[in-house]
Amino acid sequence: GAEDALLTVSNLEAWYGESHVLHGINFDVRPGEVVTLLGRNGAGKTTTLKSVMGILPKRKGSIVFQGKELMHAPSRHVAKEGIAYCPEERGIFASLSVEENLMLPPQVKPGGMSVEQIFTLFPNLKERLHSQGTKLSGGEQQMLAIGRILRTGAKLLLLDEPTEGLAPVIIQQIGRTIAMLKEQGFTIVLVEQNFRFASTVADRHYVVEQGKVIDMIPNAELEANIGKLHAYLGV
Ligand code: ATP
Repeated sequence: GAEDALLTVSNLEAWYGESHVLHGINFDVRPGEVVTLLGRNGAGKTTTLKSVMGILPKRKGSIVFQGKELMHAPSRHVAKEGIAYCPEERGIFASLSVEENLMLPPQVKPGGMSVEQIFTLFPNLKERLHSQGTKLSGGEQQMLAIGRILRTGAKLLLLDEPTEGLAPVIIQQIGRTIAMLKEQGFTIVLVEQNFRFASTVADRHYVVEQGKVIDMIPNAELEANIGKLHAYLGV
């Protein structure tokens, strides 16, 4: 990986029980970058994020964050180092209010956002302070899920398909949120199937296919590689 990388994943393999699904994932992320993992359904993007977060028990390879090897670290330790994961299913608790959902994760590092700061970022959420999680729209739930991990103090955010199932205008909002977080110095790994959206927020794209990273495309070269990308993604 790059000398100055914040995160370097090398030769990552992972299993669900006997099922071997990652066969050597390699990528790195520099401080302040937004990179995407692009690929078809089942390519291994979510499994890669879960592996970095330490959620999957059976893994092999190397995950170095800020110079520390995290391959054998439990997920609470990974969180303490400053990595946070926002799952595709968002994990909003239906019976809890917006405020209660925001208060759920512990602040594991100094510098985590206060609830007030999160509301500055997402004014819509403030209006819904006392609403139950399930009363929110899909877009509001996604904002809440992202807002919630900002409380932890993590500087590396792993976002799993934040645009999934959302209307175009809400997708644009999510894009603006990601741009704002980048401006504030966060580093982001984004799993996406929507490469049109990915191209509006990311610096570089890694293509995942059958449990391997098979290509890396700088965002500036995306248009020139559009045919290749269509073939990779089957669109
Ligand atoms: P998607 O967009 O569909 O989530 P993905 O690229 O994120 O795609 P993964 O979810 O990482 O893909 O899945 C990689 C492979 O692992 C797939 O073949 C999938 O069927 C398998 N898999 C995922 N979760 C499990 C699980 N809990 N148990 C067993 N196999 C799983």
